Formats: sequence, structure tokens, C-alpha cells
Amino acid sequence: MDPYRFCQSCSMPLDNVEVLGTEKDGSKCLKYCRYCYQNGEFTHPDMTLDEMRSVVISQMHIMNLEEDIITRAVNVLPYLGRWLSPTPPYLSTK
Ligand SMILES: [Zn+2]
Repeated sequence: MDPYRFCQSCSMPLDNVEVLGTEKDGSKCLKYCRYCYQNGEFTHPDMTLDEMRSVVISQMHIMNLEEDIITRAVNVLPYLGRWLSPTPPYLSTK
């Protein structure tokens, strides 16, 4: 019942029900955290992988994590569910 141990958008550990995102019907989303996903939608739908990378780095610096932990978290981002399927080019142009 718990296939994802990390948010498939920002790599945050999903180790607590409180941290899970929510679907449109109010149920918990097991795939994304509440900071990335609420009411069935991404909180920042236009965010790119590069932007997510900067957010993760600055958040982890605030949390005072070590550089190698930060590097590992950032390196894992491209393999998470949200970023694995690239946005079709015609959608990514602003
Ligand atoms: Zn997240």
C-alpha cells in the first residue's frame, strides 16, 4: 500500500501521513508530498527540473544538511516519477 518512499517530485521522504499530498477528493496521495501536490494538482505545475533542483538545494541548506546528502538528493531528482517522462517540447515553450 506504500509503493513510494520518496516524493516523486522533490525527493522528500514520505515517512509520515501528514506529509502526503492530497487528491481532489481529499484522499491522500501516496506519490507526492503536500508541498508539491494538493487537491489533485501540482502546487507549481510550471516548475521545471532545474527550478526544482534550486528549491531542493536551498531547502536543504536551510535544514543544515551536509553537502553530500544534498548532492545525492539532487542527483536523484531526474529519476523521480514527475521528471521521468519529459514534457513534450510543444508544451515546454513559454
Ligand atoms: Zn514533493
